[in-house]
Amino acid sequence: MLRLTELKLPLDHPPEALEAAIRARLGLKSEARLAIQVARRGYDARRRGRIAFVYTVDLDTDDEAGLLAAHAGAADLSIAPDTTYRFVAPPPERPLDERPVVVGAGPCGVMAALILAQMGLRPIVLERGRVVRQRTVDTFALWRRGELTPESNVQFGEGGAGTFSDGKLYSQIKDPNHYGRKVLVEFVAAGAPEEILTVSKPHIGTFRLVSMVEHMRGEIERLGGEYRFGTRMDDVVIEEGPDGRRLAGLVLSDGNTLATRHAILALGHSARDSFEMLHARGVAMVAKPFSVGVRIEHPQGWIDRARFGSQAGHPALGAADYKLVHHAANGRSVYSFCMCPGGTVVAATSEPERVVTNGMSQYSRAERNANAGIVVGIDPERDYPGGPLAGIAFQRALESAAFAAGGGDYRAPAQRVGDFLAGRASTSLGAVLPSYKPGVTPADLAACLPDFVVAAIREALPAFGRQLPGFDHEDAVMTGVETRTSSPLRLPRGATLQSVNTAGLYPAGEGAGYAGGILSAGVDGIRVAEAVARSLLTAESAR
Ligand code: FAD
Repeated sequence: MLRLTELKLPLDHPPEALEAAIRARLGLKSEARLAIQVARRGYDARRRGRIAFVYTVDLDTDDEAGLLAAHAGAADLSIAPDTTYRFVAPPPERPLDERPVVVGAGPCGVMAALILAQMGLRPIVLERGRVVRQRTVDTFALWRRGELTPESNVQFGEGGAGTFSDGKLYSQIKDPNHYGRKVLVEFVAAGAPEEILTVSKPHIGTFRLVSMVEHMRGEIERLGGEYRFGTRMDDVVIEEGPDGRRLAGLVLSDGNTLATRHAILALGHSARDSFEMLHARGVAMVAKPFSVGVRIEHPQGWIDRARFGSQAGHPALGAADYKLVHHAANGRSVYSFCMCPGGTVVAATSEPERVVTNGMSQYSRAERNANAGIVVGIDPERDYPGGPLAGIAFQRALESAAFAAGGGDYRAPAQRVGDFLAGRASTSLGAVLPSYKPGVTPADLAACLPDFVVAAIREALPAFGRQLPGFDHEDAVMTGVETRTSSPLRLPRGATLQSVNTAGLYPAGEGAGYAGGILSAGVDGIRVAEAVARSLLTAESAR
């Protein structure tokens, strides 16, 4: 199989134009056999109004060696990579006595559990929140009526933090083993649209995610795995041995202790109580940088026109996204985060009396507004010194300030960009209606954020407006605060992916500081499941 990249075709090209373009590029005669598989399809939008599709295709043809020789030195033709997933070991001949435990049923935990189940290792999945359908009801209670359920919300419950999201499935991580492909293949098997395997920036939207999560649970259970919902890991039992500290069990919120020597901690970035517990138990942990800021909304039509020019609204392009970065004079980087075309801003707190924003959308991305976090990088040395948990305290202070500024009933403080840039509180909103539910209170977002963050965003918005006309329109609206951009800490792990000071604990995914999104969390889940499988199977063969 050969791979050909950088094949450009107009947005409106007929289907047969693809084969014609490949044959022309390679000088392949019409009688030569050619089977085409699209590996990736994106678009190049650098020139507004002249946007074209860019294909990567895998080709099955008779004289691969001849073609490679004829195009020697061409960077766009190579042997196609083998992206097939291979398990690190065959399943054990008989069920093992020890069952690995996965704490957390977000994308990391679910992919870890699925790999373990597919390897015949019968994982037990502990999830503090509820099954996804019940969780949806609980989450809507906050959005519609301002009623928060602390154990079942946007952050906690089956499916993890990404369930009510745009379901963007791309990542910048290095992935030499093509684990991302395995994640996408499993998502398709669970009901995701097949196009996620080929489009360059796939997304699924929130409705599909809900049923996919249920389907994956069904598959894990069918393979011998077990889920326990409403079951929180409250403590860890650690033994001191000649080789150092080792996990012996987990204390659960139902009062039971689950004996295990292998637990994957896929806790997500909002499990603040669990991090406090792990820190108190001496599990290695360090503070890490993250970002804070606000969420901005514009009518999607403004963004479409700014990005696509005369091609705005073309059905092949869909709703436009954007990615923006600005290096401010105060040394801070400001960037757009988790951009959701045609979506809504959501209330994303997991703690009472706090307000946190994030964004989501449906597969159609057809809501009136585009939204994105506009966030500023912060780091422990400068901004929250004081140990591994100081970032959590920093987040909480901003989230409490936003709760107060919003009126104390889970409405979010909101501000017109014009007022924010002029340094005055908003008293009313303009042409852009915010989508955040249960509602917003016109306010001064500067009161909820550190001065250096406010200064950096004030400088960045006009710079973004020069790149995307209308971005700094006075009526664009911002809500806040955006604080859960990534984990404020990391649980360092060693070569075998166990905690550097506590064997048997496998920190994983976003909360442990090893992922930043659905796809990368799933990839990390696979890596850690493989490490657990190796350890369990090595112990078994040594018996
Ligand atoms: P999580 O998904 O956070 O899962 C952790 C799970 O562990 C939770 O279900 C939690 O209940 C459980 N848990 C925590 N502590 C315990 C305990 N002590 N005992 C038992 N269970 C516990 N990313 C994208 O790539 N694309 C997007 O479009 C996108 N949109 C997002 C929109 C929103 C509203 C939010 C909140 C996030 C979004 N993200 C998106 C980020 C993405 O959701 C996360 O990066 C991803 O979910 C991290 O996966 P994880 O499995 O590591 O952790």
